[in-house]
Amino acid sequence: MGKVIAIFNQKGGVGKTTTNVNVSAGLAEQGYKVLTIDIDPQGNTTSGLGVQKNELDKTIYDVLIGEISMKDIKMKTPMKNLELIPSNMNLAGAEIELLDIEKREYLLNNALDKIKDDYDYIFIDCPPAVNILTLNALTAADSVMVPIQCEYYALEGLTHLISTIKLVQKKLNPNLHIEGIIFTMYDARTNLSLQVVEEVKKYFSKEIYTTLIPRNVRLGEAPSHGLPIMMYDEKSKGSESYRLLVEEILERKEA
Ligand code: ADP
Ligand code: MG
Repeated sequence: MGKVIAIFNQKGGVGKTTTNVNVSAGLAEQGYKVLTIDIDPQGNTTSGLGVQKNELDKTIYDVLIGEISMKDIKMKTPMKNLELIPSNMNLAGAEIELLDIEKREYLLNNALDKIKDDYDYIFIDCPPAVNILTLNALTAADSVMVPIQCEYYALEGLTHLISTIKLVQKKLNPNLHIEGIIFTMYDARTNLSLQVVEEVKKYFSKEIYTTLIPRNVRLGEAPSHGLPIMMYDEKSKGSESYRLLVEEILERKEA
């Protein structure tokens, strides 16, 4: 049965989508069967994998309201072994539209049950908020991967993030655990990046990946070409670092 990992941090612009696309693609490149689910109305994972999000007939929204199954809307991506459940702005009203559905935090979990066996890994790209979509992701997940951007305000949201995870464990998903913390947009030339890493170590220890994702122009360019970094520029620092992260994820699984 596939392991379900939610990429979560309620802050925007910290590298969730970039990590989601490139870790999913990196594992698929290693031969694992991977499904990546976009549950952010912004649909950046969807467009980042080359899908015209505004032309979609059906999205994750239709899955959540029970109109269609995951199997029926999964899409191919440019990377072999990697499939996508797409999203777009149709999902933006979900907060209100799902309001009177019973057990509405479990919709994604229930939909996933029927498809889990087809994959080794299932990643969920969360929106930058704690809302019903995020709660669905955290309820369906076995674990959470948290990208933290190496910048001055990185620590501000950290307490909130930890308490959200604790609350979900208590109320919705007792088995949820932290898969790992990944530092993104790391800049070795600044003290600030180093300080952020040191500070986060006070909260977490064994969860932090030793791989650091550097700030890399190619990582910022790849989504506009609809490709994961390994296919856009295999030799780039960004590609190298996400491949290392994938190795580390696999090593941890062994341990
Ligand atoms: P989130 O999903 O958390 O909002 P994104 O992954 O979309 O964050 O990243 C925010 C922006 O920063 C995007 O434009 C993305 O292309 C860019 N970006 C992300 N990671 C890096 C990186 N390591 N180096 C350079 N640009 C990056
Ligand atoms: Mg995003």
